[in-house]
Amino acid sequence: MIRTTKSLLFLGLLAAGQTSCGEAKDCPYIYGQSITALKFKTDYTTPNGVSVDNSGFDVDLQAVDCVIDAADECLRDIGVLNRSVDRTCLQVLVAPDSHENPCVAGHQVFSCDLSYYPECRPGVERECPCACAGVVQDGDIMVTTPDLAALAHEYTHVATGLFDPFSKEVSYCADGVRPANCATFNSASVGQASSALTAAGCRSLVPLDEHPTTRRQCGR
Ligand SMILES: [Zn+2]
Repeated sequence: MIRTTKSLLFLGLLAAGQTSCGEAKDCPYIYGQSITALKFKTDYTTPNGVSVDNSGFDVDLQAVDCVIDAADECLRDIGVLNRSVDRTCLQVLVAPDSHENPCVAGHQVFSCDLSYYPECRPGVERECPCACAGVVQDGDIMVTTPDLAALAHEYTHVATGLFDPFSKEVSYCADGVRPANCATFNSASVGQASSALTAAGCRSLVPLDEHPTTRRQCGR
């Protein structure tokens, strides 16, 4: 687990003050260290109002809404989210260097700074380079791959402020909702959590993020 110092928290506060959030609305935000530093520009807005920077990839905007809707409903069903997040608060950034994980077929990943894991420090030889499937950047940008596999996971961080590892119930929503099942996702059968992302079968793959958290009022 990453230990965040007061100075990091302070940097988080400064960064929060610089984010654009014009109207007064209650947008979620989690404080913590970002392990990507990507630029976001809105290329598209989904029908529900989520801003998307697809970085030139083919990204299914309906799937963005579908995944977020299903994850949101699931998190409310299990009682960790009191009310839906305003979709116009949300930003999805597809990482520009997204690529197939060379070690795990069918998994997409992107570069991120995982040097706080000893096995991910630069110069450490490994068969499977450390990479991410999803992270939260700058408190509220959900960075994902084009297949949106980690979108529900990152949404869970942003919406609930919860850290990794998630409880089994939260993981059911966070790691169980995917574009392929979001339309029919049944949040009633909580308990059969699928943590495919964390059980990636590649020891040095660290696909997800860690970050301490709180919420802020946006648009002060
Ligand atoms: Zn996570």
